[in-house]
Order: sequence, then structure tokens, then C-alpha cells
Amino acid sequence: MEANPQQTLLKVFGYKSFRQPQQEIVEGLIRGEDAFVIMPTGGGKSLCYQIPALHRPGVAIVVSPLISLMKDQVDALQANGVKAAFYNSSLSEAKARQVLAQMHDDALDLLYVAPERLMSEPFLERLEDVKVALFAIDEAHCVSQWGHDFRPEYVQLGRLRQLFPQVPLIALTATADPQTRNDIIERLGLGTAACYVAGFDRPNIRYLVTEKHKPFDQLRSFLSSRQPGEPGIVYALSRKRVEEVAARLVQSGVAAAPYHAGLPERERSRVQEAFQRDELQVVVATVAFGMGIDKSNIRFVVHYDLPKNIESYYQETGRAGRDGLPAEALLLFGYGDIAVARGLIENGTNAEQKRIELHKLNAMVGFAEAVTCRRRVLLGYFGAALNHDCGNCDVCIDPPQRYDATVEAQKALSCVFRVGQRFGMGHVIDVLRGAGNQRIQSLGHDRLSTYGIGKDISVDMWGSIIRQLVHLGYLEQDLASYSVLKLTPAARVLLRGEERLVLARPRHKTASAQKAPRN
Ligand code: ADP
Ligand code: ZN
Repeated sequence: MEANPQQTLLKVFGYKSFRQPQQEIVEGLIRGEDAFVIMPTGGGKSLCYQIPALHRPGVAIVVSPLISLMKDQVDALQANGVKAAFYNSSLSEAKARQVLAQMHDDALDLLYVAPERLMSEPFLERLEDVKVALFAIDEAHCVSQWGHDFRPEYVQLGRLRQLFPQVPLIALTATADPQTRNDIIERLGLGTAACYVAGFDRPNIRYLVTEKHKPFDQLRSFLSSRQPGEPGIVYALSRKRVEEVAARLVQSGVAAAPYHAGLPERERSRVQEAFQRDELQVVVATVAFGMGIDKSNIRFVVHYDLPKNIESYYQETGRAGRDGLPAEALLLFGYGDIAVARGLIENGTNAEQKRIELHKLNAMVGFAEAVTCRRRVLLGYFGAALNHDCGNCDVCIDPPQRYDATVEAQKALSCVFRVGQRFGMGHVIDVLRGAGNQRIQSLGHDRLSTYGIGKDISVDMWGSIIRQLVHLGYLEQDLASYSVLKLTPAARVLLRGEERLVLARPRHKTASAQKAPRN
């Protein structure tokens, strides 16, 4: 094809311009470079490999875990006149042969393949005789146990980078927590790939967090502060709570209905459709609600209970304000919820899974407790750090009191250093406060120069200081290994006394939420 990517975008897909990093990704891939793309669902990942597929000789091999999605994608491409096909277990033998013949005849631009098919020896041998334009690995988080959707057959894909060193490889995902990201890079051999994180910021959503005391009253007063009739979703953790909150809203005159997986299918579609048509104002729901909703004018999302991780929170709040108009996300944050959530996780059987989920919960608590710009914490988590305060979250709008915490920060940072950057927050605070426990004695940490230098400050206050140091990038918390605290390069500047640090005083009582397992 002679046209440039811009022309292909218009002629084949009917779009006038690329979205932010699409063009750069497309051009890099056409040049033969690897890429790692992290964008939220709906961000426009597909074009990132579909256009290069039309600009490089040979067939682009696209790996996708879901047979149903493959068919949809291929249908859509064919409708645009692109030579695309899929190869998976749903094909008849005759059809499968036909697809392979097309591939060998160089009659395909894109071929969607299930991972286990692709990595089967016969198929890999076939690829030796075929010109491969590129490999695209969609839903790349499936390669990681940190993700919510681990698929063992994805692990095999790690061989592609060695088997076909000359073919560019692009991995795409919407899941961006740091552990999953590192896993993907390592397992797929993308160490030298350009990494693109984009599209996570939703500037029209105002993030609000309020300490939960009388949740139903708080919900009602939130609703009454808004324009009457504005559509919204209230998420609660249990079916029982969903029913209860919905009933109380109806009693107080709000057009509300419950939605959870325990309701009959017919009732669920009825609620969904009524909401879609603006006949229902509020849906009170468990996380089961949301997959199929395509409603752009949702004005608010309330979390009645603490979500179990930042990914869920981000996805659920992201349903608000799709039309780009102002929307609000309110989280009612109660310390009791942490214990409930932790209890649910502890009930699981897989130890590794529990550890992962606990750490994710701690990150969620960290967000709720943040006294720095919420959006910075949220986007920082996704690796899409913002370098300025957003002006559209509760912390930015009503900033907490600030104080010069340079000395306290130096104490905390040097304590992290003295314990060898091998311990989590609980232990660092114990050392700072000169706790006399056995663990400290057996480690000899009572002989450190930082032992007891922070006696005068409470555990909660130290917790707040250390969390802020993490959010502001002076410390990093290695979630993959028991929330161990480590210094970042920025910490040196502070330790050398070349910079003063102003921190926020916690607005409300802070709890020691970070009871991460210790090592
Ligand atoms: P993802 O795979 O990231 O979830 P898709 O690739 O399915 O997202 O794209 C989401 C939607 O955005 C699709 O309808 C797609 O056609 C549209 N889209 C993608 N890129 C552009 C663009 N540059 N201009 C206009 N629409 C786009
Ligand atoms: Zn902000």
C-alpha cells in the first residue's frame, strides 16, 4: 500500500485524525520497532496495529484470548474492505484449511489467532514459510498472574520475541498497575520496547472522598445537592446492601432500582433498559452492573463501600461523564470497610492470590487516605503521572492544612535507608518510634541511629507522612515484595537538605490500614 498512515486512517477506517499517541505508535511499528501500549478500554488500541498491518508486507498475526471478540473484529475489518480472518477452535476443518491457504498465499493482511493455536509447533513451522508483518498481543495482561485474567497459554507467547527476532511485536492492555506492567515486559521480552501510557485521565470527572459515618444520609444529601433527576450509579459491595439502599431511596422518593447477579435475568435487563432510557434515575448495584451499559450522560458514581482495588474503582468511576460534561465520583470511605474487604480476601484459598489482592487493597486505601491531589495518585498508579495538581478533586478544591515536614521526612527517609530498604511501613514506624518488640531486637534495629528518633509523633501521623512521601515520589513501595519501602532518586535531594518539604495535615483520623504482611 502506497498511502501514508494518515490516509489509511481516513480511507479505510473513516477517521480524520489520530488520537494522541496512536500516530507515534503506528509509525514506530511500521519502522519495525516494538511497542507496549496501555490505554483504557475504548481508548483506541486496535488501530495501533491494524494500520501498521496494512503498511508492512506480509500478514499481521493478532493474538486475542476471546473467540467471540475475534469474530467481531474480523467482521468489522472485512466490512471496511480489509483482508482479515481468524483461526481458532470454532472453525470447521474445511474453513481452517482455507484460512491457512490464504495465509500461505499472502492473501491476508491480518490473522487473529488464539494463543494456544499460534504457539503450537505445526503453526510455528508454518510461520517459517510466511512473511509476518508484525505480532500484536491483545489483552497482554493475561500473561501476568498479577492481573485478574491470567491465562497459562499466554505465557508461551514469551517465545515469540526469540523465535522471530526480526518481526516487530506490540503488546496492548488496559490493565496498568505497576506489577502487571513489569510482568508483561519481562515475560514477553519487551525490555527495549517503547512504552505508551495514555488516555487514563478523565478531566471532567471530579473525584471526591468523604469519611463515611452515616452513609445513607450522606448519599441522600449528595443527591439533593445535585440537579433533580440526574442519572447516576451507586455501587455497594453486597447484594443485601444493594437491596437495602435501593429500597430506602425509593422510600425517599428517588426513582431507583437494585441490580445484582442474584436477580432474574429479565429483571436485570429491565433495570438496564429503564436506566438507559432515563426512566430510572439511580441504579444501586454490585460490580455486576456496568459491562453492557452504554450510557454517556451518567452524571455521578457513588461508592457506598470501598472498592477492592484501584482498577475497579477507576473502571467504575469511569462510567460517569462519558459525554465529556462535568461528572462526580464520590467515595464514602469507612475504616470498617478495610477490615471487611480484607476479610473477604483472607477467605480465598490461593496464598499468592491473597497476597496480590491485599497489596491492591492497600493501594486503594492509600488513594482514599491521600492528602495530595487524587488525580495525581490515581494516574500515578497507572504510570501516567500528572506533573501538576488537577484542580478538580476534593483535595485540590478544599486543601487540607499544610506544614513544613522537612525534618520528619528526613527522619523517615533515613530510617528506610538504615533498615536496608528491605522493610515495609509498619516496621519503619516501629523503629522510628523506638518500639521495644522482639522483632526489632532480633534484627538489631534497636541499635540503629534512627531508632526512637520519632517517638514524639504518633503511629497514625507517621503513616500519613510516609504515605505522602510515596504519593509524592520520594519513596516507592515495592508491592511485589511485601510493600517494602525504597528510596527514589528524589529522596537524596531531601536527605541532603537541599529542599524543603511541605506536607498536608490529615483531615480526619487516619487508621493503620497498611497491615501488610511483614517479611
Ligand atoms: P480499545 O481496543 O482500546 O478498547 P478500540 O480500538 O476498540 O478501543 O476503539 C474504541 C473506539 O474508538 C472504536 O469505536 C474506534 O473505532 C474508535 N476510534 C479509535 N481511534 C479513533 C480515532 N483516531 N478517531 C476516531 N475514533 C477512533
Ligand atoms: Zn486534584
